[in-house]
Amino acid sequence: MSGSSSKTYLEEANKYSAKNYHPLPVVLCKGEGVWVWDVEGKKYLDMLSSYSALNQGHCHPKIVAAVQKQVAKLTLTSRAFHNDQMGPFMKRLCELSGFEKCLLMNSGAEAVETAIKAARRWGYTKKKVAKDKAEIIACENNFHGRTTTIVGFSTEPLYQNGFGPFTPGFKIIPYGDASALEKAITPNTVAFLVEPIQGEAGIMIPPAGYLKKAREITKKNNVLLMADEIQTGLGRTGKLFACEYENVRPDVLIVGKALAGGMYPVSGILADEEVMSAFVPGNHGSTFGGNPLGCAAGLAALDVIVEERLAQRANEMGEYFMGELCKIKNPAIKEVRGKGLLIGIEIKKEFGLARPYCEKLMELGILAKETHDQVIRFAPPLVIKKEEIDWALERILKGLLPR
Ligand SMILES: *Cc1c(COP(=O)(O)O)cnc(C)c1O
Repeated sequence: MSGSSSKTYLEEANKYSAKNYHPLPVVLCKGEGVWVWDVEGKKYLDMLSSYSALNQGHCHPKIVAAVQKQVAKLTLTSRAFHNDQMGPFMKRLCELSGFEKCLLMNSGAEAVETAIKAARRWGYTKKKVAKDKAEIIACENNFHGRTTTIVGFSTEPLYQNGFGPFTPGFKIIPYGDASALEKAITPNTVAFLVEPIQGEAGIMIPPAGYLKKAREITKKNNVLLMADEIQTGLGRTGKLFACEYENVRPDVLIVGKALAGGMYPVSGILADEEVMSAFVPGNHGSTFGGNPLGCAAGLAALDVIVEERLAQRANEMGEYFMGELCKIKNPAIKEVRGKGLLIGIEIKKEFGLARPYCEKLMELGILAKETHDQVIRFAPPLVIKKEEIDWALERILKGLLPR
């Protein structure tokens, strides 16, 4: 016991940390499954799961064991050499997702950057787009990460302002509008980058059939469909990948977050040889990408998703949770929407911002976070049980009462 209180840690963070986040004032020191504990020993139900990076729950014993075994054996080789963990992990990931090839990175933003680079190189080498003319189409209110190139095609001023000049070559269209996609395509278009559900934008679900139409349009025009499933993937929405809801197979599937069960940053893109052959030795890489520790965690994390049928559980528990949330009679609620265990409650503007509701929920033992001003996201670990959802519902009911 260090004896330090939350107050001390909050003051310390306040003093030394860049203010690039506005966290809830809770200081956590332990996690197990869907539960976390603060330094005073108070227990909370984690309904954010680190933005869906903890689909398998906190400190899943099987992933902990894999990490513990590997951390004492070999952690990093760089890609200058091979290691014995990367192959088995990529084989499993390719087999599960149905792609021929995989390229491993660390953070989600790096995987998106990798997809962008793949699309451009594919465009120049295969589609024969003239040098430096490649265009990529993305959507309004997208969230694909925080690098300078990626924030350059964000439409959220907060993510973008003050970080220019930006990388050219991106075109923005409204989300959910397939005819806008068709119109935006030119002979120089190499890819359409899209989230199957926009998580950060506030759990925005496109019209039924949107992805399927986008698939048809991109195929017809020889444009790559690149699905960013960093947040929606790996079981979160009730399928292993949200694209499966419309039987869509993208050309590039971007994964991250829960890929290593929250124990290590592991991300990557999946594609077939036709696209992946855009990369040749030396033209892309990462020192830590494909490291044995991350791959050992990743293999165990994938095993957990399959063995514990987490996608199916997200589907079942999500249906129950959404159903109960929809029954709540509360004048502050504008809408409840979601798929699987990616759920948002939109608060009516006249009832104030979502933030104070999250603070109230925290007091009641529920950790949830607002996304943008009006939406509270509920995305618990997929290992959550019905009793735990009931525990949460009791508190959500109280926490959402307008004051
Ligand atoms: C979180 C997220 C990213 C970025 O991942 P980081 O690991 O934070 O870089 C990209 N796209 C989507 C859809 C995300 O949810």
